[in-house]
Amino acid sequence: MKIICVGRNYAAHAEELNNPVPDKPLLFLKPDTAQLLDNNPLYYPGFTKELHYEVEILLKICKNGKFIKPKFAPDYYKEVSTGIDFTARDVQRECKKKGHPWEIAKAWNHSAAIGNFIPKEEAFNKNGHIEFSLNKNNDQVQKGNSGNMLTGFNELISYISQYFMLLRGDVIFTGTPKGVGPVERGDSLEAFIDKKSLLSCQIK
Ligand code: MG
Repeated sequence: MKIICVGRNYAAHAEELNNPVPDKPLLFLKPDTAQLLDNNPLYYPGFTKELHYEVEILLKICKNGKFIKPKFAPDYYKEVSTGIDFTARDVQRECKKKGHPWEIAKAWNHSAAIGNFIPKEEAFNKNGHIEFSLNKNNDQVQKGNSGNMLTGFNELISYISQYFMLLRGDVIFTGTPKGVGPVERGDSLEAFIDKKSLLSCQIK
């Protein structure tokens, strides 16, 4: 499996990091070794002093496809969850400054915490959006609504599939809302869709 991530998909988050809002989805990949599953703890990596959480809605791909049209995109995912795109922000800043790729800041071992998937019908509210949030040490630090995404789920699947053939089991990280911030050893994170807790992660 592979993990496809979308950067700067919420305008308020792009602004908080002083980044321009992209005119097309900004994509990057994480390898399967980036997965952090089963609510396992994350061991603070030695190569960063600024480890950040980014809570995101995840789509699990259930069918292989490429060049998928947006109107058919809903057929390609049945389950959604929340995840955390762990980012070594200091390393990322250095990569950006040098014009280098981001992988060493974003795609390292266990940098993609993946929650328990639920049927998408249980996640969408009556307006057709998903509300999600992240608690750090039981205080809410991020809150998002998929209705505020710059590029919605169907268009994302369509755009991604032009470049990267989607295979059953792939996971899409659809971008983080504003409120990203640091974690320290001993912190605990918990991510929700509505009030459903789908992911817990201790930082060790
Ligand atoms: Mg992210």
